[in-house]
Amino acid sequence: MNFEELIQNVYHKIKNIDDEGNLASYIPELKNVDSESFGVHISTIDNFNFGVGNCYEKFSIQSIAKVFALSLAYSILGEKLWERVKVEPSGTAFNSLIQLEVENGIPRNPFINAGTHVVSDILLSNLNNPKEDFLNFVKSLSNCSEICYSNRIATSEKNVGYRNVALCNFIKAFGNIKNKPSDVLDFYFNLCSLEMNCEELSKLFLFLANDGFTLEDNKQILSKSQAKRINALMQTCGFYDESGEFAFKVRLPGNSGVGGGIVAVHPKQYTIAVWSPKLNEKGNSYKGMRFLEEFTTKSELSIF
Ligand code: GLN
Repeated sequence: MNFEELIQNVYHKIKNIDDEGNLASYIPELKNVDSESFGVHISTIDNFNFGVGNCYEKFSIQSIAKVFALSLAYSILGEKLWERVKVEPSGTAFNSLIQLEVENGIPRNPFINAGTHVVSDILLSNLNNPKEDFLNFVKSLSNCSEICYSNRIATSEKNVGYRNVALCNFIKAFGNIKNKPSDVLDFYFNLCSLEMNCEELSKLFLFLANDGFTLEDNKQILSKSQAKRINALMQTCGFYDESGEFAFKVRLPGNSGVGGGIVAVHPKQYTIAVWSPKLNEKGNSYKGMRFLEEFTTKSELSIF
């Protein structure tokens, strides 16, 4: 497969389409970005790397960081994790509160915001220096030493994050948050503020294409079965109330953030990261979705 030629072709085609999306505006700092940015980077498990466009420019990965948080919590707690968060698609927006009331504060899945508050709470209870340890975990997935939280983004979201404050306190009222909600929220806003570029993002996700082992130093992060389960969750829940649409059009496990990043995993083959900041009405990158649909269609590789 000539990924380089295929990515170049699809990139130039999608770059020129009308972008029907809009920048995320509810986190003020996310508006301070060039809305025309567009980058793509692929990393394969046989060590081929290729990127185009703004693929070396850092952006706010937002909810994509939830996959790293889940991976670390899963490696610590094992299957007991699923007593605190379920594995069903929610069919609701990523920041919705409605299911929590009737489902007794047990979030539908780990990728909606409610689920990541519970995962964050688990990490707070199990890490000595939660923010530092989590960042070191992320960096260790691909020897990426240049990755940092953005204080600017975290503070901007903290100042307006009323829905997340409500979600976290609501779950606390059901007893499914053990730590102080203010500490959980502080950790959550920081994890969402992680910044990296498409090259780093695709490389950091390779362990999920490689049966739970990092590619560079063959370190086991998750068991083979756990890695498969995280991919299954990304396939069914990674795009919130657009997860069905993504599976239908792109057919790969993946995850998306309101900074306009999308990462997708083709197990045993490759990971691909796309960044284009304008979002569709479900909060997923408009051009990112269009690029991946075209890329997986033209490559004719499929997990099905
Ligand atoms: N920090 C964002 C929020 O909580 C993450 C959402 C996302 O990227 N989908 O609203």
